[in-house]
Amino acid sequence: MTDKAWQAETLHDDFQTAFLATDVLYDTATEHQRLVLFENPTYGRVLMLDGATQLTTADEFVYHEMMAHTPILAHGVAKDILIVGGGDGGVAREVLRHSTVERLVQVEIDDSVVAFSRQYLPEISAGAFDDPRHELVIADGARFMAETERRFDVIIVDSTDPIGPAQVLFTEAFYADCRRALKEDGILITQSGVPFIQGEELEAGARDLRASFADVWCYLCTVPTYVGGEMALGWASDQPAHRRVPLEVLEVRYEAAGLVGKTRYYAPDLHQAAFVLPPYIKRLVIG
Ligand code: SAM
Repeated sequence: MTDKAWQAETLHDDFQTAFLATDVLYDTATEHQRLVLFENPTYGRVLMLDGATQLTTADEFVYHEMMAHTPILAHGVAKDILIVGGGDGGVAREVLRHSTVERLVQVEIDDSVVAFSRQYLPEISAGAFDDPRHELVIADGARFMAETERRFDVIIVDSTDPIGPAQVLFTEAFYADCRRALKEDGILITQSGVPFIQGEELEAGARDLRASFADVWCYLCTVPTYVGGEMALGWASDQPAHRRVPLEVLEVRYEAAGLVGKTRYYAPDLHQAAFVLPPYIKRLVIG
């Protein structure tokens, strides 16, 4: 589509999705990536980085809720959380809904994404960046992970796809550093793409995670923007029990966290179902 009114996602080599852009609100090159924000009648405001859709205001709740609540409610007593990436603030918003979370460190490489999201997408972070528990570090997540002496209960890697600055976040070395930065019973979550299209990303990620973690899996959520089927979120820990928390325990924790009526995608029974994988995805995960 050559009409200027259309914004194409150019992440994939042999197909594109295009959004009618009724208003291009922002189009600039930051130090790290090209950032475009535009309005679309169906998806609301759409944020693209280097031609890859990052979020839309219409469906961002799906994976922001699933990236945050699934590990925190599975863990049960998570206090120290680390987010790598997530410059829009959506995952931070959901993490900070948990009053049991005492500290949230967020390491984002591109401060333009944070500044921009605060100004043009304030409802995504919804004040998360101003929460006294939130600490923003502008740095490369891989370098931070290699050097930090801090320890976390949950690490959530909400990165762009393995192109450009995020490539370093999809390596065995990075995952080994994540294992070191996690407490003994910690949980690591990774953005693992859409297996039907990016199956090799999930397969390689699971392989690299198995070098450092005893229990490697993924869980699924359906994000309308990410075409090609379910989106996979990588899961790694040394405690297999984290992946098998009984439904009644999840329900108690969900209610205790004050989340009843507050989530539009996450629910305790859906949490359990999300770990059930169709054979074609299971094969990618178990190698
Ligand atoms: N949920 C989206 C998805 O699934 O594609 C990702 C959203 S968020 C906008 C992705 C963030 O990762 C961006 O703000 C980007 O700047 C950040 N990022 C990319 N590479 C990074 C790195 N090496 N260290 C820290 N943040 C990074």
